[in-house]
Amino acid sequence: MDITDTAQRIISGDRRALARAITLVESGRADHRMQAAELLGALPRDRQALRIGLSGTPGVGKSTFIESFGMMLTGQGLRVAVLAVDPSSARSGGSILGDKTRMDQLAREPKAFIRPSPSQTHLGGVARRTREAVALCEAAGFDVVLIETVGVGQSETVVAQMADLFLLLLAPAGGDELQGVKRGIMEMADVILINKADGDLKATATRTCADYAGALRLLRKRPQDPAGFPKAMMVSALEDTGLSAAWETMQELAGWRRENGFFDRTRAEQAQYWFEQDVRAALLAQLDGAQARADMARLGAEVAQGQTDPALAAQQMLASLGHTRQ
Ligand code: GDP
Repeated sequence: MDITDTAQRIISGDRRALARAITLVESGRADHRMQAAELLGALPRDRQALRIGLSGTPGVGKSTFIESFGMMLTGQGLRVAVLAVDPSSARSGGSILGDKTRMDQLAREPKAFIRPSPSQTHLGGVARRTREAVALCEAAGFDVVLIETVGVGQSETVVAQMADLFLLLLAPAGGDELQGVKRGIMEMADVILINKADGDLKATATRTCADYAGALRLLRKRPQDPAGFPKAMMVSALEDTGLSAAWETMQELAGWRRENGFFDRTRAEQAQYWFEQDVRAALLAQLDGAQARADMARLGAEVAQGQTDPALAAQQMLASLGHTRQ
């Protein structure tokens, strides 16, 4: 791949170049990783999308929401990219995040770009690649990048590490379900959206929304929030209600954070986090090579048999990887 040419094409909005570049960053091959790093380094940093993380359990309406919300944004002239972090390795049928058939209207919209989750079993690897895909979409000039994930705990944390705003989508439910949402996930949310606030579910949604609004008020105030945030709101992805109010709320929050320095500060911290993650991942990957595995097995056996002290064996192992112990 010609890096300079690809970078130029991405910047000029060439979707095929963008798709190819995402395939490149998703690859685990060592030469691809080098090219990916070069490409990411060659992209301009002056373009900034609003990165929105979105989480919710299966069936809560994430794809319906992304479809309606995405169509509303493109209707306003905004360019929208949709990416996914899917932590489940055993994926089946309808649960494939970012599956284009789940968002068929948006998938046909020229201002939208939908990319399914990379198929990788290791969450850390998926997360890193999604972060890089976000950077590519940003350079391609998208105004909004939506990063979707299934709410199963760890994946929210990594999505929050690459998002400017974090949305939690919930379904209307009885009061006792409030406890079902882990406190840590609630603390991550900037806006909680109670979806399916329509028809027979409207009354329950209203109660659920009030419950969460109450629960959010009990959380410790975060410095990166203006008064009134985090917020709980009602939407119906199916009937397209509450979506523009939700978007205004997101813009209000992002605007406040920009004016008060939190937006850039968070991005700076995130950049540092991903840098450190990448170094850690690369160091760990060194242990996966055939030679390293063989050395580990050999030295491990020597240690087990009492022939070598663990500390000395570790020293030898590190030396064989080209590292000296500090
Ligand atoms: P996901 O698994 O979170 O992506 O959820 P889906 O978007 O696939 O939606 C799951 C089900 O909920 C589908 O049958 C949708 O039609 C339905 N659904 C999604 N949003 C709404 C909504 O706003 N109101 C109602 N009544 N149903 C909805």
